Amino acid sequence: MFFHFRRVSTNRKLGPMPAVMASQATCPTTCALQGAGCYAEHGPGSIMWRALTAGRAANQVTFEQLLHLIRALPKKIRWRYGTAGDLPPNDGDSIDLARANGGREAIVFTHGRRYETYRKAGQLGMHINVSTDCAADADAVLDAAPDMSVVTVLPSSAARGRHFTPAGREIAVCPATYAERVTCSSCNLCCRPRPRGVIVGFPAHGSRKRMIDRRLAQA
Ligand code: SF4
Repeated sequence: MFFHFRRVSTNRKLGPMPAVMASQATCPTTCALQGAGCYAEHGPGSIMWRALTAGRAANQVTFEQLLHLIRALPKKIRWRYGTAGDLPPNDGDSIDLARANGGREAIVFTHGRRYETYRKAGQLGMHINVSTDCAADADAVLDAAPDMSVVTVLPSSAARGRHFTPAGREIAVCPATYAERVTCSSCNLCCRPRPRGVIVGFPAHGSRKRMIDRRLAQA
């Protein structure tokens, strides 16, 4: 398990914030996107991610080193964990990460379903979003754990504005999808609990969007 820490991301959607990539060893085996539309496998960071997963990326760090780097961040800063990869598979490590975060505004998504761990992390000040692969999956997560913050994937054709799950829950499209000037540095939807528990939706994009659209059509 290796990590890459970038003090100032150059990712257009994130904006200039610290960003951490985690190697594939952190990914839950249950993630339905593995080999089926995962952005990390084919997106712009895929070469870096493969090198990190193989343990031969320049400037890679261990988990302990990552914790030191996070603790050293300014107290008032927003940062992104997991531009690729997921939370550490060990619950204790995820809690250690939350402790190192120390209440900073972290943007974290996970394909895991370890709700009790995410609650503890939230109590320690690190808010975790549960990623789902379609709107029905978002309903299933919220039926099982109504207090979770959920994000989901929408068809590439999804227009800006509000959408709804099959059970009628509201989905708001990530504003960075359509507004050039919005980045995660200027939007705080994903780093804290959302009003009315609104789900954030990400329209499929990139080279795998047709594959994702087909999967969503069958969901
Ligand atoms: S909703 Fe806001 S914080 Fe979340 S991914 Fe989109 S721009 Fe970033």
